Amino acid sequence: MPSRNLTFQTFLPGCEKGEADSWRAFLTNYNPIVFRLLDVYAPQMGEEAGKSLWRDALQALSAENFHRLRGFDHQAEREFLIDLKGFVLDLALQRFGGAPGDASQIIDHVRSRIEGRPMAHQEIILLNLGGYSPEALEKVLVLPPTLVAKALESSVGAEPAPSGLGSARSAITWLEFLHEVHAERTPDCPPRRIFVRILDGQVSWYDKTPAEKHMTRCLHCLEVWASLREVDSLRRETAPLPDDELSEYLSALPIATATAARASWMGKLLGR
Ligand SMILES: [Zn+2]
Repeated sequence: MPSRNLTFQTFLPGCEKGEADSWRAFLTNYNPIVFRLLDVYAPQMGEEAGKSLWRDALQALSAENFHRLRGFDHQAEREFLIDLKGFVLDLALQRFGGAPGDASQIIDHVRSRIEGRPMAHQEIILLNLGGYSPEALEKVLVLPPTLVAKALESSVGAEPAPSGLGSARSAITWLEFLHEVHAERTPDCPPRRIFVRILDGQVSWYDKTPAEKHMTRCLHCLEVWASLREVDSLRRETAPLPDDELSEYLSALPIATATAARASWMGKLLGR
């Protein structure tokens, strides 16, 4: 079976064993998503720096017998991709020399922009602040231009952005924001599974209403929700990585090659 046809549930266990075919499927499907995310959130990084960052990320994921990779959500692909996004963007923040810690100014600014707005507007405002243009948002969120325009228009008049946002430093400021907001999970936050089920239309209004209400007051959950919409769209819209571009990433991974496996089997057979 061509590796691009393997599913998430099939290739992830193989990746954790260092199997080449599984990693080919992983890279074929997820490389394009990672590079789209870097385009949006770290636009100043440039192509070569982005490739080098992703190779380092792959090494970090596979270190100590794939310890970091094993720590990601394994239940479903979209939750896994949210973890992957957080991991890669944290690395980008380190690369830029950003200091996670004091994102209170940007957090206050975002709160002032979304406060009291309906959820549909909040997710648009959040993704727009993160780097998506109105046109890109229409595609990612599958929304009519009028709704996107209305959401962005309605937040005009909020507090002016802190220095940093809207300038050359803005991408770093946003990466700091994401880092901080990820860490802000509270005991009241619904499990991410609920948000996935809402997205898939599998939740009754009885469960949906409190979760949506919570989201409009909790930046952590709003960000989870927006990321879910984002990775869901990227998974559908991005074209797979061409086979001839795989090798430069495969070489960053501790892959158990067929030859090596055969050699060790022969070694055992011969008592070596
Ligand atoms: Zn929450």
